[in-house]
Amino acid sequence: MADQAFVTLATTDNYAKGAMVLCQSLRNHNTTRKIVALIGPYVSETSRAVLRKLYDEVRLVDVLDSGDATHLAMMKRPDLGVTFTKLHCWTLTEYSKCVFMDADTLVLSNIDELFEREELSAAPDPGWPDCFNSGVFVFRPSNETYEKLITACSENGSFDGGDQGVLNSFFSDWATADISKHLPFIYNLSSIAIYTYLPAFKKYGHDAKVVHFLGKIKPWDYSFDTTSKTVKGQSQDASAMHPNFLLQWWELFSSFVLPQMKAEYGDQPFHSGCTESNIHEDVAQVDTSHHSPPPQMSSQERKQRWEQGQADYMGVDSFDNIEKRLDSFLE
Ligand code: UDP
Ligand code: MN
Repeated sequence: MADQAFVTLATTDNYAKGAMVLCQSLRNHNTTRKIVALIGPYVSETSRAVLRKLYDEVRLVDVLDSGDATHLAMMKRPDLGVTFTKLHCWTLTEYSKCVFMDADTLVLSNIDELFEREELSAAPDPGWPDCFNSGVFVFRPSNETYEKLITACSENGSFDGGDQGVLNSFFSDWATADISKHLPFIYNLSSIAIYTYLPAFKKYGHDAKVVHFLGKIKPWDYSFDTTSKTVKGQSQDASAMHPNFLLQWWELFSSFVLPQMKAEYGDQPFHSGCTESNIHEDVAQVDTSHHSPPPQMSSQERKQRWEQGQADYMGVDSFDNIEKRLDSFLE
């Protein structure tokens, strides 16, 4: 089992926070596999130090600095920078099998059984279920596959601009060839699916093993009050995320990751996203300096979010409001 690993990627300090929480969630559920982080050159030294404490291995991948084929591909398609970096996971050839997990995923129970699956196993994407979601997938590192992926990526680009498009084009028989490569949805439960099919979530949601905070707004974009244990900045956007999963992410962050960050930063100020309210104060009134309420969105912006599946189901886009609007049209 020493030759099997969970792998993630972080190219920025924010995604590094996600990677820290992900790693801690795997440890809390007693994984017996190695945990590896790929990082890009812009991750700060302090974040690297924290990642090194948590992970078995932290590996710097600098695609601009790497072998000729990758470098050339990168020059041809600079828009696919992070995608090329993610494909790098196939070069981890000292491992025979790996499970890639996005840095915005959170593990809720032991998932070591995923290593019984073959390349390429993944769960359906909630937006287009004949495509797999590339936030969680089982793969076999291989330099040969890596070269093929890089070639495919630089020649054909990506139909969605990211790694998911590239990987679905490459592993194009995923939807039809072998049902054992379809991971159950509970291994990659995107928070968005909760609201698009609430009855299914109510029936099956308690079995969730991995939650994926897919979309533009990530858990680290909120802030957390460690006294009242509430996530803030939530009024408009967090409705696209399940409040309980978001809270679990922040609880892990504040109790396991934050102490390590504090130790690493020493007296230097840094933005953790955590605040402590005075118990006697109204929580809503504190920390407005750190996190002002989300700005009012233009209707164009709202439309865009809606189209990306990020409707504010509990707020402005709630059923009540839609109904009111329809009523006013009908009148
Ligand atoms: N990623 C990264 N830096 C970036 C964007 C993405 O390191 O600037 C990595 C990270 O592991 C992230 C994954 O690529 O989880 C996929 O991106 P993201 O999760 O933002 O996409 P989504 O799941 O929302 O489609
Ligand atoms: Mn993701």
